[in-house]
Amino acid sequence: KNAKGNYTVTMIEGDGIGVEISEAVKDIYKAAKVPIEWEAADVRPLLINGKTTIPEPAVKSINKNLVALKGPLATPVGKGHQSLNLTLRRTFNLFANVRPCKSIVGYKTPYDNVDTVLIRENTEGEYSGIEHVIVPGVVQSIKLITRPASEKVIRYAFQHAISTGRNHVLVVHKASIMKLSDGLFVEVAKELASEYPNVKLSFENLDNTSLKLVQNPSQYNNLVMVMPNLYGDIMSDLSSGLIGGLGLTPSGNMGDKVSIFEAVHGSAPDIAGKGLANPTALLLSSCMMLRHMELNDHASKIEEAVYKTIASGPENRTKDLKGSSSTSHYTEQVIKNL
Ligand code: NAD
Repeated sequence: KNAKGNYTVTMIEGDGIGVEISEAVKDIYKAAKVPIEWEAADVRPLLINGKTTIPEPAVKSINKNLVALKGPLATPVGKGHQSLNLTLRRTFNLFANVRPCKSIVGYKTPYDNVDTVLIRENTEGEYSGIEHVIVPGVVQSIKLITRPASEKVIRYAFQHAISTGRNHVLVVHKASIMKLSDGLFVEVAKELASEYPNVKLSFENLDNTSLKLVQNPSQYNNLVMVMPNLYGDIMSDLSSGLIGGLGLTPSGNMGDKVSIFEAVHGSAPDIAGKGLANPTALLLSSCMMLRHMELNDHASKIEEAVYKTIASGPENRTKDLKGSSSTSHYTEQVIKNL
């Protein structure tokens, strides 16, 4: 909180449509009188000694404010850079990625009443980046699973299950095949269970969860799913698809100290600068951020205005939601509905 009683939050606008959707968030926050001042941070990648890093002022801003809102970042192709998203996760040890998916009233999909929460391990697994060419035509890629990282994300899942009243953790894995790696993930969950006697713990194979999630997603409504990195990546996009796509789903990257909230979609270069982008995912991510900051009333007010706007008809929805609205028209309608 600063001297004026406002909270300072780091804003990483991002690339492509990032500029348009962050503008929409800023306009809506101003109209809703949310007590937040944005501090812009530039995270253009730097390559230092062959390692991708982000500029020091951005790191300082995020470490000072502890909370950041982030638009999509385009990964530079073929310039020797690692993904900036991975760099951010590593810089701030953002060990858990939380992805809620809730049906949006007024936007009909084949599935009603979806209300899932998925927590993805965010630092290792198949994303460790350890790959070798053994001999030409033969490559090896290492999936790294460690006890400390598994413990952190599973503990977070237990705590999230308690704080949201879901009181049930489902570990999604493939330990029948990945006996040692997923086996360790499962073992850690079993070990931690005694510390959370009021939370139910169950286990399911990834293939089985995939099948059941598309058959009847609401059977996963009253629990928190937790899983290794790549499974979480795939299953969270699958969950987004159940409620209408990536333009609607928020996420939070949680660390020990710092949390970064972001839309899960990319920079959408095909529509960037055309006024067609849907800012809903970034807006709903910002509402997750507000709840994390215990500004729940502001979060509810903005969420309700968003849902009301989407439900009010195709003329007020963007093209990705089968509507005809521009980003700015949609933003004006949300402001009107606050
Ligand atoms: P994308 O998510 O940018 O786009 C996929 C499709 O969805 C496109 O047709 C796009 O127009 C549409 N779309 C996405 N978000 C939308 C929105 N808010 N409103 C309306 N339509 C939307 O995926 P991509 O094309 O594979 O990736 C483009 C760039 O984004 C790449 O450089 C990639 O590395 C990066 N990326 C970043 C993140 C992130 O920062 N978290 C995530 C994914 C991809």
